[in-house]
Amino acid sequence: MSKLSIRDLEMSGKRVFIRVDFNVPLDGGRVSDDTRIRETLPTLRLAIERGARLVLASHLGRPKGKVDPKYSLAPVAAKLGELLGKPVAFAADCVGADAEAKSKALRNGEVLLLENVRYHAEEEANDPAFAKQLAALCDQIFVCDAFGSAHRAHASVVGITKFVRQSAAGLLMEKELTHLGRAISNPERPFVAVLGGAKVSDKIEVVQNLMKLADAMLIGGAMAYTFLRSQGLPVGKSLVENDKLDLARGLLEEARTRKFRLLLPVDHVLAESPDFSTTKTTDIADTPDGWMGLDVGPRTIAQFSQEISKARTIVWNGPLGMFEKPAFAQGTLAMARAVAAATVAGATSIVGGGDSVAAVEQSGVASQISHISTGGGASLEFLAGEKLPGVEALSER
Ligand code: ADP
Ligand code: MG
Repeated sequence: MSKLSIRDLEMSGKRVFIRVDFNVPLDGGRVSDDTRIRETLPTLRLAIERGARLVLASHLGRPKGKVDPKYSLAPVAAKLGELLGKPVAFAADCVGADAEAKSKALRNGEVLLLENVRYHAEEEANDPAFAKQLAALCDQIFVCDAFGSAHRAHASVVGITKFVRQSAAGLLMEKELTHLGRAISNPERPFVAVLGGAKVSDKIEVVQNLMKLADAMLIGGAMAYTFLRSQGLPVGKSLVENDKLDLARGLLEEARTRKFRLLLPVDHVLAESPDFSTTKTTDIADTPDGWMGLDVGPRTIAQFSQEISKARTIVWNGPLGMFEKPAFAQGTLAMARAVAAATVAGATSIVGGGDSVAAVEQSGVASQISHISTGGGASLEFLAGEKLPGVEALSER
């Protein structure tokens, strides 16, 4: 990685501003899932061990630039204190006199959490004066560990880097960049990309970019139907984006001329909408009118799994069906098992995307995947070949 890492920093006795992703779910004023907090612990512990004075900032939810107690990070300070086994101070505003005083009162290894940066509209506007106020809380050292926010040019992610001497990646950020970076710049081959999920329009850039980089692509989920329909196949009431049919047809043509291996489902599990209680499985060509495709079928699962078993690098984004309903989860769960098995056999596997990650967790094989990306939108933009402003802004090593 060409960017500065927290491991490169001299932090003893210095106030270090660390942008984390504590955007956790709250339930009745308590943190109901502390995964995101636990994921930053290695970074925080490293800073503490090195004698830094930690000033932590995050957003939580979408308070739209106004103070809204529903989105207060106060419960997170309590939870973090528990996890670190030491008190965590809290500043009720992320800028201003109180935050400054509290940051100055820190001693080596002590931790201060600032209130939600999105209580100020200047955060999302990347306002320079606001960024400067944030920077005033540290001694010219900024660490970004919020990979999930790196695709947003916000003040606490990008703006602040203009007002500090060093901007480094935290350990979580570094891990994401190393895994995703290797997959798209120097993958072991064959490199197989698996794409699914709700919409072609969400992922079109990812499809285009990975078609350039991968050796094969497997497409399932709702987005497959726009591709199938573009070939004149019957899809019943399955989700099709009619304004994307030309685009889909163009991509399939490109794949054909380049002899790029692009596989679409050959069969599927259908339900008669709107009542999803009766299901049946047919070949795509035999799709009955009025029925909706909600999962890939057994022949598709077998073909896709076969491709996965030959891969040395696998990138997967997007469930292959409506996995939230057990009747339509088989394709996604089978894919999770196939990816896990290939990984055990030596392949490198990366899963990204909020729902895909949830599906893999649900499958019980998550621990066998090489890398589960925490950044939904950010990992998609990265895989689409875009530069992330929050990464670009970090100092070169
Ligand atoms: P990710 O969050 O991993 O990027 P997406 O948000 O793009 O994934 O897609 C996930 C959603 O797609 C899930 O809610 C799932 O139910 C839905 N989905 C997948 N396949 C189908 C399908 N055939 N019909 C309708 N919805 C589907
Ligand atoms: Mg999603």
